[in-house]
Amino acid sequence: MYAPAGVKTSTDYPIPDAMKAWVLGDPGQLSLREKPVPVPKKAEVLVRIDAVAICATDLEIIYHGPPALIRGGLPHNKHFTPGHEYMGTVVALGPGVDEYRIGQRVTVEIHAGCGQCKRCREGMYTACHNYGLNYGEVDKGHRANGFTTDGGFCEYQVNNINTLVAIPDTMSDEEATLVVTAGTAMYGLTELGGLVAGESVVVTGPGPIGLLGVAVAKALGAQPVILTGTRDNRLAIGRKLGADHVVNVRSEDAVAAVRRLNGGKGVDYVLECSGAPNAVNEAVRMVNRGGKICLAAFPHQETPVDIAEIVRNNIYVYGIRGEGKSATHRAEAFMSQGRFEATKIHTHTFPLEDLPTAIRYAKDRIEDAIKVVVKARGVSAVHKVAAE
Ligand SMILES: [Zn+2]
Ligand SMILES: [Zn+2]
Repeated sequence: MYAPAGVKTSTDYPIPDAMKAWVLGDPGQLSLREKPVPVPKKAEVLVRIDAVAICATDLEIIYHGPPALIRGGLPHNKHFTPGHEYMGTVVALGPGVDEYRIGQRVTVEIHAGCGQCKRCREGMYTACHNYGLNYGEVDKGHRANGFTTDGGFCEYQVNNINTLVAIPDTMSDEEATLVVTAGTAMYGLTELGGLVAGESVVVTGPGPIGLLGVAVAKALGAQPVILTGTRDNRLAIGRKLGADHVVNVRSEDAVAAVRRLNGGKGVDYVLECSGAPNAVNEAVRMVNRGGKICLAAFPHQETPVDIAEIVRNNIYVYGIRGEGKSATHRAEAFMSQGRFEATKIHTHTFPLEDLPTAIRYAKDRIEDAIKVVVKARGVSAVHKVAAE
């Protein structure tokens, strides 16, 4: 039975020594293996994973490798378990941990920086200078579960207390997996200017981050919030999440439409979530002079950018790789207050054993899948839920 020295456990939550974990082999190949249940160290807890959502970045990692960085290189064939958008129950406490209690439901953010570099000391732990240095003689203790350390496509994982967000019992497991996605959108808006009440925002690309970007911008009081994309069904969900206007860029020029919808003027902020080849150049033409653009998507190719337009118009451009600056906590506050219904982007749930099927649904957008969740318990083999 699991009883590591210095680790607090409870008979209410018996922990086995071994667990089921999906392991990445060659690109695109996952196999279900047995791994030892990990042991929390100082400032860490053991989380029993109750639900984990599949993110587009998981697909990048599983099929291509980056941005995962395992022992200084690609994540394939290293006994690595991907998955980063998970939630669960605290079942064991590392030495000295009293910030959380056993039995507490939590969701997680990804990045636990090293805590000692310049950026971590500034609170920018997502830009830790010791990213991925958690092995061998240069072990700096950095963790980004599912990127540089084992992630959530398994039954238990160790998390630094700084990556935990307590959630209320009224929040479902599935909704809790979406907190980090909303947190990423929140961080994007934080970088753009924090409070945006009364300011105009365009979100380009109605993927999960874009759709929750709309919801968070609206909850922050932005006006108007305009969503652009290519699929009407996704744009319709954007409307339900608070978009004042939606633009299908297949039927209308996006820049012209944005200017028309904002009284002939450019907007204050663009949150770019599409990764489309011309997205930056279009964003530059959507913002007003002195406006700000946040890039939150990974494009697949290098593209020329009209720098002169950026320079002439004093435009600020920011890149973000995910959540940060405790934005996940602020997103959770919106969600637990019911300020928007994040579950509108959750479309399917599968058991953990069916992860390859779940990944196929997410990757090929089968049945208009947006957010696909897997659960280690409580889901029958054929059960899946489509959102309303
Ligand atoms: Zn993600
Ligand atoms: Zn650091």
